[in-house]
Amino acid sequence: MERRTAFCTNCHKETTCVPKKVKVNQNIRDKNYTFNITTFVCNECGREIGFPGLMDYNIKEIDEQYRKTEELITVEDIERLMKLYNIGKAPLSLALGFGEVTISRYLAGQVPSKEYSDIMLHALASATYMKELLDRNREKIGETAYKKAHIAATQMENLYVAVPVELLAVIAYIFSALHEVTPLTLQKLLYYIQGNYAAIYDKPLFDAPCEAWVHGPVYRNVYNLFRDFKYNPIDDDRFVPLKESALPLTPQAKEVVDRVLDTFGIYSGKVLESITHKEAPWLDARKGFLPDETSHAEISLDAMKAYFKKVDEKYNIRTEDGLRKYIAKMR
Ligand SMILES: [Zn+2]
Repeated sequence: MERRTAFCTNCHKETTCVPKKVKVNQNIRDKNYTFNITTFVCNECGREIGFPGLMDYNIKEIDEQYRKTEELITVEDIERLMKLYNIGKAPLSLALGFGEVTISRYLAGQVPSKEYSDIMLHALASATYMKELLDRNREKIGETAYKKAHIAATQMENLYVAVPVELLAVIAYIFSALHEVTPLTLQKLLYYIQGNYAAIYDKPLFDAPCEAWVHGPVYRNVYNLFRDFKYNPIDDDRFVPLKESALPLTPQAKEVVDRVLDTFGIYSGKVLESITHKEAPWLDARKGFLPDETSHAEISLDAMKAYFKKVDEKYNIRTEDGLRKYIAKMR
C-alpha cells in the first residue's frame, strides 16, 4: 500500500499518511504467531490513521502469512485445482473425500485443516493421485463430472510421462529461479546445464537425448511439453504441478544450475542460440545438413562432455567468472 491523503483527527485536517509495517501477535488454534501488518501514520503528527479498506487488507495479509507459515493451500490454488481438472466445486469436494460444500467454504475464505490442505496440495502436484481419488469416489460425483475430470487428469499425466523426473526437477528449478522463460531459452539453458555438469562430474545430470535442430540443441520431449508457447514465456496452470512436485536438486546439481542461470541465464534465447551455433557439439551434429534443414541428429553426451572439458581447461567453468569470460568471447 502506498502513501495517501486522509483526515487526521489529531491535526483536524487532511494530511499525508505514510505506511508503516508493524508486528502483531495472534493466537490461532492454540499456537502463537507473529504477523506483519500495515498501519498508516500521519506525516505531520505521527498518529495512526485508519481508513476504509485497511482492515480488510490486513485480514488478507494475515491470512496469507498464516497459510504460508503452516504451508496451507491458498484460495488461488484451490481455484487452480478446479481449472486444472475441469471440475466444479461440489464434485471436487466429493472427489477429495470432503463434504459436498467444503470447497465452497474454502473458496469463501475459510482456512482448511492441515490434513485437508495436504490432500488438495497433493492433488495439485500429482495427476495420478487425482485419478486415484476420482476412481475411489466415482459413485459419489456422478458419471459426467467423473469423465470430464478423468480426461483432464489423463492429459496432464501424459504431458509429463515422457520427461525423466531429474529433468523435470531442473525445469521446475529454472521456473522458480527465473522470472520469464521462453521455450527457446529453456532449451539452451538445459543444454548448458547438462554440458557443464557432464564435464565436471563425468556423468549426465539427466538422461535425455539432445538433438541438433536448426535453432540449436533441443531436448525433444521438453519441446513437446511446451510447444504451444512458441516464442512466448511459459506461463500456464498446467505447469503449476511441476513447481509443486519438484524434487530437490542435489547440492552438486544446484551449484551447476545456479551458475548457468546466473551467467547464461541473463541472455535471451536468441543470444544463447547464436552461441550454440559456434560450438562444436551442435556444429558437428549438423554436418551434412543445410542451415534450414530439419534434422534429429543427436548431440552425444560424449561430444558435450569433451567440448565443455576443453572450455573448462581454458576458462574454468567451475566459477561464474570463468563462464562469463567464455560467454563474452563467444557472443
Ligand atoms: Zn496528524
